[in-house]
Amino acid sequence: MQKLVVVGNGMAGVACVEQILKHAPKFEITIFGEETHVNYNRILLSAVLAGEKGADEIALNPLEWYRQNGIQLRLGIRISEVDAASKTVRGDDGSVTGFDKLLVATGSSPLIPPIDGVQKEGVFVFRNLDDTRALLQRAERGVKAVVIGGGLLGLEAARGLQVRGCEVTVVHLMDTLMERQLDYTGGGFLKAKMESLGLKVLLERNTKAILGNGKAEGVTFADGQSVEAEIVVIAVGIRPNVELGRKAGLRVNRGIVVNDYMETSHPDIYAVGECVEHNGICYGLVAPLLEQGKVLAATITGNKGPRYEGSVMAAKLKIMGVDVFSAGDFSEKALGTDVVRYEDPALGVYKKLTVRDGKLAGAILVGETNDSARYMEWLRGQTDLTAQRRQLLFPAPGEDSGLDIAEMPDTKVVCGCMGVTKGAIIEAIHQKGVNTLAQLKECTRASTGCGSCTEHCQQLLKAVVPEFEEEQEKVLCPCIPFTQEKLREILRSQRIRSVQEALEIYGNGQGCEVCKPALSYMVDMLWCGDHDEDRSARFINDRVHANIQKDGTFSVVPRIRGGVTSAKELRRIADVAEKYRVPMVKITGSQRIDLLGVKKADLPKIWAELGMPSGQAYTKGVRMVKTCVGTDFCRFGVQDSTRAGIELERRLEHLYTPHKVKMGAVGCPRNCAEATVKDIGLVGQEGTWQVVVGGAAGKKVRKADLLITVESMEEALQAATLFFQYYRENANYLERTYDFVERVSIEKVRRDTVYAPLAVQQGLRERLRKSKRLARDAWLEGAEPRHPTQFVQIEPLEKVYQ
Ligand SMILES: Cc1cc2nc3c(=O)[nH]c(=O)nc-3n(C[C@H](O)[C@H](O)[C@H](O)COP(=O)(O)OP(=O)(O)OC[C@H]3O[C@@H](n4cnc5c(N)ncnc54)[C@H](O)[C@@H]3O)c2cc1C
Ligand code: SF4
Repeated sequence: MQKLVVVGNGMAGVACVEQILKHAPKFEITIFGEETHVNYNRILLSAVLAGEKGADEIALNPLEWYRQNGIQLRLGIRISEVDAASKTVRGDDGSVTGFDKLLVATGSSPLIPPIDGVQKEGVFVFRNLDDTRALLQRAERGVKAVVIGGGLLGLEAARGLQVRGCEVTVVHLMDTLMERQLDYTGGGFLKAKMESLGLKVLLERNTKAILGNGKAEGVTFADGQSVEAEIVVIAVGIRPNVELGRKAGLRVNRGIVVNDYMETSHPDIYAVGECVEHNGICYGLVAPLLEQGKVLAATITGNKGPRYEGSVMAAKLKIMGVDVFSAGDFSEKALGTDVVRYEDPALGVYKKLTVRDGKLAGAILVGETNDSARYMEWLRGQTDLTAQRRQLLFPAPGEDSGLDIAEMPDTKVVCGCMGVTKGAIIEAIHQKGVNTLAQLKECTRASTGCGSCTEHCQQLLKAVVPEFEEEQEKVLCPCIPFTQEKLREILRSQRIRSVQEALEIYGNGQGCEVCKPALSYMVDMLWCGDHDEDRSARFINDRVHANIQKDGTFSVVPRIRGGVTSAKELRRIADVAEKYRVPMVKITGSQRIDLLGVKKADLPKIWAELGMPSGQAYTKGVRMVKTCVGTDFCRFGVQDSTRAGIELERRLEHLYTPHKVKMGAVGCPRNCAEATVKDIGLVGQEGTWQVVVGGAAGKKVRKADLLITVESMEEALQAATLFFQYYRENANYLERTYDFVERVSIEKVRRDTVYAPLAVQQGLRERLRKSKRLARDAWLEGAEPRHPTQFVQIEPLEKVYQ
């Protein structure tokens, strides 16, 4: 068997090996990688830096894959010499390895401009996983960072550092950002958007030196000005790694020169990826490298035929909420170029197309990139646009602005980043049983790059997999078109603490009565109450802390913990009811007292005179714990359900939840307070407590699932609060516990709460504790305390908890 040695365990080299494995004959393959990691998706390093993905989530080929394919993987070894005559490579570990065929896939290195002091501590590049980890270690709230370079990579690095809490300045040599992909106007729109996120952008600054004594303290420019910085990231471009090519005597210009078959000037040495130059072009994007890999695999395995004829350059900025796309040649200078343009500074939308000979030559989209796939199709297919001239920027009404997925030929590329065609996706669906987007990503890698093809992948799944429709996730609202899960991830990873900020960056800037309350809940929950509260984002009930009735009056329900009250409280309730002529005083089904028909103007006075906390009967929050009499008075009682109920209510009251939460505690399985049809129930047994969750006895009737059986009341309370916080963090807004438990399954709920590792449980408890610390009785906000016992704050959780 022939020996194939691959130098470079990166995206291009390994993708090419994957293609080679599909052909015959087979090789004995050895891959050398200087990095110590298996092949990973380098594109997603920006997502790792921004906290959207974990480092362990971006691996492309696990160790198992190398093993299964009989590949010898040599990690952490840099190949320093190639002897083309004796056909050997030498590693920096001293090893010498012979080859019959050599594949050079060494990629690029960051370009370091002539700046004094680049070796100082605190100066970074952003190319690989180790760089990213090093940056993550230093990036903390309040740390000042400068990113030199306002291109794709620099901007992604800058935003990543900013969401980690750094104060970031982007320094760029040119007079506009991303000048390779955008014209001056587009760059201006982008700058405005980046600044609206809180990043500083300095243009036309020529960085001369890194300041500081051994350690970065700032940067200084040719004009004498300077900026403070503890972290400096250099992201000004890349330089193909061609040294090995030179050592092997290959023809090298900027990159290692290859022909249309990906052959170098040596018959047994091939090259692929960012280290090569084809027709004078060195590509710095993944899609061209994958196309090259397919051609190379055919050539090296003796199936020479397919040619690499160059790729359309396209780029998309991967910063959540900053939509920028650019493809092809957007210059206006070439003879016969028509420019079609639209711009709206208020919306931050800029679109420009260049058309030559009736065909699309280039496209720039800023602020709205929905049509990028359509333009890519036109560019790749060199479509004659004569008939569509009136609809170049805006598709005709009713027309699908995306690709017509049904009419698309199988050879068309759906995922530009990973070079996955429609045919490959359909094959995966039919032959590998793929029927979800997650499976499609894993199987084909489609939609794992910049994410702009996700909609098309979903359309294909919908068209080919009959049951896919039901699985499709719903976006929260057209104002901010993300699923709730995604929104929680965005708010968390991008450190967004207000509804308005979320709407401005990721939505239409306005919001509506559907998305605003949901976003308001999410920021409250994610930041444990430490957020910028926007009362106008709440429902009317939440704004007035009372439940509006059909005649416009309100109902007032004070908190009566565990349904246990006192003569004094009852007297105050009666006094208030008489004084304010409350038309109806009603005992509710939840063991509370409801004052119905209260005028809005009387609300603050009533709260003050009642001297009881709000029962949150009007909001998506903790309602009550219904209890039975338990051991105190009932002859069947085996557990103290009244005390357990009061304690549970004290621990959770005043907190907001995705939907209302009703609870119950009973002293024996006779279940007099119906705990088994409550969102959370504690059911006393002889010597144990059962904690049950997800019950319902309203529009839907559902017996709660058993979460866990424990011995003591304290353990039962702990388990109930773990579930409570898990529900708060993971349920969709307006999803009751019974739908939530059914959706995620009780097994998963158990795994993630009562059976979760200690650290996970501690995390849930700590966040609950923080929320509780900042939670206030809503009625306290509306009135000065007038009654001595009014709004007495409950003891801090720590006192009663552990
Ligand atoms: C943060 C970031 C974001 C990006 N975003 C995008 C994007 O959105 N879209 C896009 O299309 N592209 C993007 N890119 C570019 C894309 O990742 C690269 O085009 C692609 O990874 C290049 O693949 P490659 O295999 O040629 O090089 P690499 O992936 O760099 O792999 C080369 C490997 O070879 C190793 N190596 C080098 N020399 C030796 C040697 N002598 N001995 C042993 N090993 C050696 C290197 O350590 C490296 O692991 C991004 C890049 C970065 C850094
Ligand atoms: S549930 Fe059991 S303990 Fe509670 S009141 Fe009913 S019978 Fe008594």
